[in-house]
Amino acid sequence: MAFGEFELIARYFTRLGAQRPDVVLGVGDDGAVVVPPAGMELVAVLDTLVAGVHFPPDCPAASVGHRAFAVNLSDLAAMGAEPAWALMALTLPSVDAGWLSEFARGAAALALEHGVALVGGDTTAGPLTITVQLLGFVPSGMALRRAHARPGDAILVSGTPGDAAAGLAIAQRQLSPADHVMSDYLRRRFEYPTPRCALGNALRGVASAAIDVSDGLGGDLSKLLDASACGGELEVETLPVSEQLVRAVGRARAVDLALTGGDDYELCFTVPPARFAQLAALSEAGAAPVTRIGTVVEGHGLRLRRGSTVTQFSHRGFEHFV
Ligand code: ADP
Ligand code: MG
Repeated sequence: MAFGEFELIARYFTRLGAQRPDVVLGVGDDGAVVVPPAGMELVAVLDTLVAGVHFPPDCPAASVGHRAFAVNLSDLAAMGAEPAWALMALTLPSVDAGWLSEFARGAAALALEHGVALVGGDTTAGPLTITVQLLGFVPSGMALRRAHARPGDAILVSGTPGDAAAGLAIAQRQLSPADHVMSDYLRRRFEYPTPRCALGNALRGVASAAIDVSDGLGGDLSKLLDASACGGELEVETLPVSEQLVRAVGRARAVDLALTGGDDYELCFTVPPARFAQLAALSEAGAAPVTRIGTVVEGHGLRLRRGSTVTQFSHRGFEHFV
């Protein structure tokens, strides 16, 4: 079934996601018009997914749509922002109606779940690349940052990092666990990550600093510590790796994947002792499972403590062009 750019936009992207009363003008004009709420600051994020770089070319289309929104929702979550509006630049090698409707279905489900309206974008021909820009808001002055962690603050992480890296290895057929239930679980953790939006919102006024874990917990935590001009000590024993991951690759490799794997989209954040009570209350409210994994210290760099042995963490995380 052949159709062009305009029909494609009309079919799949004119009313994708939530219908929001603050959208004055959405897809169809030269620009979108939205109404930011009074007293709020806008937070803008943007992330690109390139086929063959950020996902295997044969990744299910619904997963690609989900991830294009999830990676951006995760950035907003790490800022403590509430998501609202999206723009999407889509570069497609060809018009494949089956692929497009699955892609739009995956994107729409997550956008709807988080109340996000797609208000505009651009569509071009070329190698498969998806760029989503999300706009959200925070009460003025309340955005979470990577800076502002202080010695003595607890370091925490949500969920079970490391699963997604194993899931990607399974999708790429580099890892093949015998147990299908375990294998499917890990693969889904790569294909359908859960952005921690409710947690990010709840951490406003509680966390001293936050970052989303997209390139491995060790590297991303190191970025937070550098931005805060502090060091950190991580208790390796306390890392929350999933039972499925440990069964698939063993405890040592699971820890390694949690520290250096990618694509988890969990939140890593710091909390001052004076706010531990608030943190306990929000854990009970169930925004997301969180685990204390270490402490912010004076100095710089991340140290890993295993019993009485302490080593310096040195992996730099994923860098393009290197
Ligand atoms: P222009 O010529 O002004 O660039 P386009 O023809 O590219 O406009 O797009 C027409 C309308 O469709 C615009 O409102 C644009 O924001 C929207 N649009 C184009 N591509 C997408 C997309 N992939 N997702 C959402 N909206 C899109
Ligand atoms: Mg255009």
